[in-house]
Amino acid sequence: MIPGDGIGPEISAAVKQIFAAAKAPIEWEDVDVTPTFDKYGRSTIPEAAKESINSTKIALKGPLGTPIGKGHPSLNLTLRKTFDLFANVRPCRSIVGYKTPYDNVDTVLIRENTEGEYCGVEHEVVPGVVQSIKLITRDASMRVANYAFEMARSTGRKRVTAVHKANIMKMSDGLFLECCQEVASRYPDIEFEEQLLDKTCLLITEDPTQFDVLVMPNLYGDILSDLSAGLIGGLGLTPSGNIGAGGIAMFEAVHGTAPDIAGQDKANPTALVLSSVMMLRHMNLGDFADRIESAILATIAEGKTLTGDLGGKSRCSEFTKAVCERL
Ligand code: NAD
Repeated sequence: MIPGDGIGPEISAAVKQIFAAAKAPIEWEDVDVTPTFDKYGRSTIPEAAKESINSTKIALKGPLGTPIGKGHPSLNLTLRKTFDLFANVRPCRSIVGYKTPYDNVDTVLIRENTEGEYCGVEHEVVPGVVQSIKLITRDASMRVANYAFEMARSTGRKRVTAVHKANIMKMSDGLFLECCQEVASRYPDIEFEEQLLDKTCLLITEDPTQFDVLVMPNLYGDILSDLSAGLIGGLGLTPSGNIGAGGIAMFEAVHGTAPDIAGQDKANPTALVLSSVMMLRHMNLGDFADRIESAILATIAEGKTLTGDLGGKSRCSEFTKAVCERL
């Protein structure tokens, strides 16, 4: 468990209480990922955290704050690179009890997690001119496309949409798209569709039911997943899983540290709890996952104990208690 920054400690405590109430067979090992610096001044995560994750192969992570425009590189990026967490899986499903314009959103967004604009290679060419590298490789594109199609098939989903801007970035997004096309040809049972990013934003807000699984380069996934979260009631509700090449997986909410409400017992722990539900399923503990998921969704559907982001007045601790009592 990486409790994280901001609201992280509050929502990870909620997960622990809910797991205890459900008698889920998990022993937590808390690790700190405050960066350490090597002799070249590069930031890295502490050895103890690396050892813990390498041995358990599973982590649940609270949000981590990243300084904007200066300071150490994103620890989220460091974690993704360290454990080669190549696919970020972000399900987004309408929740009964919180009314939005749509009742039937059910998408899974798969974001390439290791490269694109996020490779973090930037430099100043001359004062006033900076260059940022968008790196796309065949290897990374093939493995995320393979993951998307395999996940679609194994979970009974019907369609995969590759989201891109290959009309403008003909080489980089062009390569990503080519890889998706190649993988699609090996999955005749799954419908394949290609869609420009801007058009996808329009279509998904007009009628999200036309999308099923979406796969895309890193930055597009970052943006489109917050947009999708908005369709079902906000960032307090959307979970995610980072799937690694070496058998390691790390689960976390889509949202960040929410500094505006941190330390005030106001956060909605649902996104992290649903991330922990994904984690339990990944660990073949589906029965516990089902029970915890039903309890939290039923608590929201009942509408009596809702946090502020869902229009209620309850505190994070009161909502957590209601879920525990239901369990
Ligand atoms: P944010 O997701 O932290 O917050 C955006 C808005 O959503 C805020 O109004 C916040 O109060 C609300 N919100 C988010 N989670 C909520 C929850 N569980 N319950 C209720 N309301 C919630 O985005 P931000 O403010 O842009 O980023 C803050 C920090 O988080 C930055 O340092 C950023 O780098 C970091 N961040 C980390 C991660 C991660 O660790 N995976 C992801 C995104 C942002």
